[in-house]
Amino acid sequence: LLLGIDIGGSKIAYALADPAGEILARRRRPTEPTGNPEQDLARIADDARGLLAQAGAEEGDLRGVGVSVPGPLDIDRGRVVRPPNLAGWEAVPVGKILQTEFGCPVALENDANAAALAEYRFGAGRGCQDLVYLTMSTGVGGGIILGGRLHRGRMGTAGELGHTPVEWPGEPCACGLRGCLEAYLGGVALTRRLRAQVPETSACVALAGSPQAVSTVHWVEAARAGDPWALAEMDRFNHYLAQAIVHLAFSLAPEVVVLGTIPIAAGDALCFDPVRKHVAERIWPHQAPYMKIVPAELGEDLAYRAGLCVALEAIGKG
Ligand SMILES: [Zn+2]
Repeated sequence: LLLGIDIGGSKIAYALADPAGEILARRRRPTEPTGNPEQDLARIADDARGLLAQAGAEEGDLRGVGVSVPGPLDIDRGRVVRPPNLAGWEAVPVGKILQTEFGCPVALENDANAAALAEYRFGAGRGCQDLVYLTMSTGVGGGIILGGRLHRGRMGTAGELGHTPVEWPGEPCACGLRGCLEAYLGGVALTRRLRAQVPETSACVALAGSPQAVSTVHWVEAARAGDPWALAEMDRFNHYLAQAIVHLAFSLAPEVVVLGTIPIAAGDALCFDPVRKHVAERIWPHQAPYMKIVPAELGEDLAYRAGLCVALEAIGKG
């Protein structure tokens, strides 16, 4: 059996599956980091044992464990370096600790790469060989699959697409650089901008109650209702997203670009169609038909599938 663990900033998702990927048991709970990673990992191991019991299985049935966790990671040493939402998790040897607990291979992968693997294997990228995944949640995460394999690059920094520049020098980014895609499309940067710029007359304010309460959810809702300011901001979002996809078209020529979160909330009319149009205008005509720009498909299943795909990597079948 394979065990997938997705450690998110707010929730941890566990899934137990057979070798064909059929999920036998799953569970989700709030992350609740204690500040003591050993204690947190002991609780994670207990949860995993509970899942095995739920499926009528034993520890000896486990062949591989996969952990999807926010980066940065030291993949070679199986260490989590310093995830932004897990207090006290500094250079934690998660791989070694869980390997001792379960006595089977354990692989770690950053959450965006794990999500790219999940969409490639079980979601919008099924059947393709070259895929790029981009998601806009707190920041902008990315993952690259080339020739059916996750491309990690030197130091595992390939796929950090949120930090490719779309302006120079541009807006400051949380990473310390400037002009990064994340400084334009990341949830934190976007929310800051929406609150600072929103006019009192925008439907965003009516939906949120006050400018300081405006979120990306209110913005997308206001755009859907035809609010001119929200629509103008959506144009800006689509412009920068298209810019990033154009770079990918020329550097990687993926078959599929899978977009998660905000584009899915915005939908075809507000996001996918305009982005496809902007991209088509900025690449060679013969390229466009070979690169699909599609919504991520896994939704609520993503966290379970992400952990399991990393488990497949652990047993060398990724
Ligand atoms: Zn950056």
